[in-house]
Amino acid sequence: MTAVNEHYLKLQGSYLFSTIAKKVAAYKEAHPKEQVISLGIGDVSQPLVPAVVEALHRACDEMGKAETFRGYGPEQGYAFLREAILQGDYVSYGIELSADEIFVSDGAKSDVANFQELFSVSTKVALQDPVYPVYLDTNVMAGRTGTYQNGRYGNLIYLPCTAENNFAAALPKEHADVIYLCSPNNPTGTALTKAQLQRWVDYAREHNSIILYDSAYEAYITQEDVPHSIYEVPGAKQVAVEFRSFSKTAGFTGTRCAYTVVPKGVQVTSKEGTKISLQQLWLRRQTTKFNGVPYIVQRAAEAVYSPQGRTQTQAVIATYQQNAQVILSALRQAGITAYGGENAPYIWLKTPKGLDSWSFFDKLLNEGQVVGTPGVGFGACGEGYFRLTAFNTPELTRKAAERVAKLQF
Ligand code: PLP
Repeated sequence: MTAVNEHYLKLQGSYLFSTIAKKVAAYKEAHPKEQVISLGIGDVSQPLVPAVVEALHRACDEMGKAETFRGYGPEQGYAFLREAILQGDYVSYGIELSADEIFVSDGAKSDVANFQELFSVSTKVALQDPVYPVYLDTNVMAGRTGTYQNGRYGNLIYLPCTAENNFAAALPKEHADVIYLCSPNNPTGTALTKAQLQRWVDYAREHNSIILYDSAYEAYITQEDVPHSIYEVPGAKQVAVEFRSFSKTAGFTGTRCAYTVVPKGVQVTSKEGTKISLQQLWLRRQTTKFNGVPYIVQRAAEAVYSPQGRTQTQAVIATYQQNAQVILSALRQAGITAYGGENAPYIWLKTPKGLDSWSFFDKLLNEGQVVGTPGVGFGACGEGYFRLTAFNTPELTRKAAERVAKLQF
């Protein structure tokens, strides 16, 4: 019989969302008249903006005419979108890159999951705890970790992010080859300032490490000293790869479009000591394994950078930012300490009275009919914390917030 990739057997079942679904279903069955509101979803509730929909329609019409029909496109993305990204997200922030360092894809999830295959299996990986689970699980699948014992995989460097360090991990004491950083962060909703990020870039330059920087929530940044791109930090173009997405920026969670920036200065080394450009390797990987994002979707993404597209998407983001403020103020009224929400659509609260994450989940569901996500589901350091998201509609968010404000502990 064909042998399995044993590393897959090390993976922990993703019980988090299935357990939540089971608990919610049981509650609804027992209380059919109650309206349960979810502040647990990581998906958006607002539709695509008109400028994007119009661009989609126009591109569909082009696809129906022989003169403008398009088949396979460039694997790395059409020049019109790469140029729009370059101008809109980098040149306008004073960052110099070239369009061939930008790779358009169908999602930050797939890119951040696939990127690790460019590194040796012996690569030492560091990641934040709590963490977006994709970074962790894809390294488990690739065989870079030991087995799972007492809540942790062997051979990984965990970077604890708790209230004690303001959710900004300390630099590892040991050597890390690859460091995953997510800022603004899912799940903690906090973001690294330019000075904090500079320390990571300096560490990476000193250690010849590579930073995989996920800034899927960049559009939610409000604070002046929080950079929108890691390339605002001097030296980052030698050590960092940046992942961005149209999912939470422009409601593309179902439409699928994202991009990854791989500067030509980022290098890895062969056994013989030859330096190899990561940009060339990623190009090779993408042209071999990926056939590009649909033309119509790339035209839709391009429309996000038009004057109307910008105004309209910013209005949607402002709606979610307002939701975050509504949630934060309700938590304050309930006497609960909460973090995040200022530069991200996530609020990370400290469970009161020493409740564990799941006990808080049960209380919120049973007494407030509100659903959120237990922090422990994102890693051992998430125990005693709880995530709420700002992605529901303003009406339901307000309703949920009123219930949260009345909770007694
Ligand atoms: N990165 C982070 C930190 C996320 O939270 C998410 C989605 O929840 C993604 C990436 C996935 O983005 P995409 O929809 O582009 O695959």
